[in-house]
Amino acid sequence: MVDRRTLDGVNARRSPFRADLLQGKVALITGGATGLGLEIARVLGGHGARIAICSRKEANLRAAVAVLQEAGIEAIYGVCDVRSADEVTAVVGDVIGAFGRLDVVVNNAAGNFPVPVSGLSAGGFKVVVDIDLLGTFNVSKAAYELCLREHGGSVVNISAATQYRGMALQAHVVSAKAGVDAFTRACAIEWGPDAVRVNVVAPGAMSGTEGVKRVTGDERHRTTQNPLRRPGSTTEVAQAVLFLASDAASYVTGATLVVDGGGWLTASGVPDLPGYQ
Ligand code: NAP
Repeated sequence: MVDRRTLDGVNARRSPFRADLLQGKVALITGGATGLGLEIARVLGGHGARIAICSRKEANLRAAVAVLQEAGIEAIYGVCDVRSADEVTAVVGDVIGAFGRLDVVVNNAAGNFPVPVSGLSAGGFKVVVDIDLLGTFNVSKAAYELCLREHGGSVVNISAATQYRGMALQAHVVSAKAGVDAFTRACAIEWGPDAVRVNVVAPGAMSGTEGVKRVTGDERHRTTQNPLRRPGSTTEVAQAVLFLASDAASYVTGATLVVDGGGWLTASGVPDLPGYQ
């Protein structure tokens, strides 16, 4: 089921960017059928890119593509688990086959559940690291080797801001996201000579998303504990992705753009979840 609130909710204002910013480009967004991923797909597609989304649940992907197409965006989907290099390579190949090229990759797929370290199994830790970090590696590598190295492009990895200070019940996630940040910088150095830019967008808690509901408890309280004193929207994060994906960021690589209202500077590392204070 597509949650339309994330498409036209808190911040459905006119874009400050030129409508043709990504004209002629093709973008692949992992985890693009839900939440932030779907909003990134809508924002990149709304600025001229042809869009491919991928994840595991075909019904969600189909519904999301219908929503994007309704908005006038050329969109396709591929089914894959980002933990599988073979499945990812097949989907990246299909996208290039369908659209003739691939210019922008957004590694957004992730897993999350709140749990203290003492209650976290080795398997639970590994699942999140595999989706977030190994998945980012699989997709980035396939895209680089099958296409990006030939003509350049932009990879935007969706990280988080909790790993900069630490957060209770999130040891597995902050570990995975710290790895994503580090992987990004290594790729930026290796792939820069091929005109492939690799950057991070590190969102804070975004209003109305699954992630916030599951992890931060009292959303309103937490999302207003930042210097801007208000929650952020998925649109505001997607606009940061659009900037890094576009030629407006042509001299930006290996960078981390934190989009959290300054929250990582002031937020407590203790979530507002019942029973955890
Ligand atoms: P979400 O709605 O839970 O979306 C996660 C997406 O990842 C889903 O579409 C899911 O699709 C896909 N996915 C999960 N495991 C996968 C796998 N093994 N292979 C392929 N796809 C997989 O999450 P969200 O809240 O929008 O968060 C999006 C990104 O922002 C994540 O990277 C998250 O860490 C980051 N972030 C979010 C917040 C927040 O406030 N929500 C804050 C900081 C950072 P399937 O189930 O169909 O596979």
